[in-house]
Amino acid sequence: MTVEKSVNTEHLKADMVVMGCGGSGLVTALTAADNGVKNIIILEKEGHRGGNSALAGEFFACDSPVQAREGIVCRADDCFKLAMDWYHWDRVNPRLVRAYINVSGDTVRWLEGKGVEFDGKKLIKSQISNSTHTGKGDSGFGGKLISLLFKKCEEAGVKILLHTRGKKILRDAGVKFPEP
Ligand SMILES: Cc1cc2nc3c(=O)[nH]c(=O)nc-3n(C[C@H](O)[C@H](O)[C@H](O)COP(=O)(O)OP(=O)(O)OC[C@H]3O[C@@H](n4cnc5c(N)ncnc54)[C@H](O)[C@@H]3O)c2cc1C
Repeated sequence: MTVEKSVNTEHLKADMVVMGCGGSGLVTALTAADNGVKNIIILEKEGHRGGNSALAGEFFACDSPVQAREGIVCRADDCFKLAMDWYHWDRVNPRLVRAYINVSGDTVRWLEGKGVEFDGKKLIKSQISNSTHTGKGDSGFGGKLISLLFKKCEEAGVKILLHTRGKKILRDAGVKFPEP
């Protein structure tokens, strides 16, 4: 992968463009590459990768392989009820909450497959018991996660353009950039 400081974006061609080089963007690009998409470009408006994801310390998951190895039972149904109680059943989209909860364990599985090392002994007892996953070691988990995803994208040939703000992705027609 080439990380370029600034390029003439008018002449770039890609099969897939991702806006934002945080956790979501890197995972999206990597998943697409794993599924055979070629020529992927990530646009990042800042001069560095990672976004807020690089600052995060841990994340929620239930029915994860880390919990299973520790003998911890943390069920999706229970987590959904707790989460919806927390939001008084009317302040969030329940389908989105359920979808997020349902894939959380598989997300941990996927990340482990990419080489992320979770620390089962650090499953933090939070509002939802033993659901908060973090990595091994003392330093920031988010930063490590981003470095690993970035390296995997690099290996998969994803191109990342820093200092490149996108304005709008036009389906089948490219990307609209802000006026200079
Ligand atoms: C200090 C802090 C601590 C946190 N701790 C936790 C935690 O412990 N656990 C937890 O679950 N969550 C935590 N969060 C929240 C979590 O970090 C976010 O929910 C998550 O990182 C969002 O991921 P993302 O990929 O959507 O966004 P980001 O990681 O923020 O990535 C978005 C990227 O898109 C880029 N971008 C934006 N607009 C454009 C554009 N027009 N063109 C090109 N690039 C663009 C941004 O520069 C950024 O790099 C924390 C947040 C903060 C700020």
